[in-house]
Amino acid sequence: MCASCAKEGRHVAAAHVHHMIDLADAPELALTYSNLESLCHPCHSRETLKRLREERHERDSLPGIR
Ligand SMILES: [Zn+2]
Repeated sequence: MCASCAKEGRHVAAAHVHHMIDLADAPELALTYSNLESLCHPCHSRETLKRLREERHERDSLPGIR
């Protein structure tokens, strides 16, 4: 079941396992249950886009790095 939809009272089958802390940052958490969240496809896409935007924002805020 999608954890994000469940918080809003919707029951949607999960299609993806989302890593709350990115594996690039914490590969040792790949199989740690507390770092996993089941999400449906729309929620997973949204989380992925959000993360990409945040990473880009961090990069852009560093002077001299493009
Ligand atoms: Zn969802």
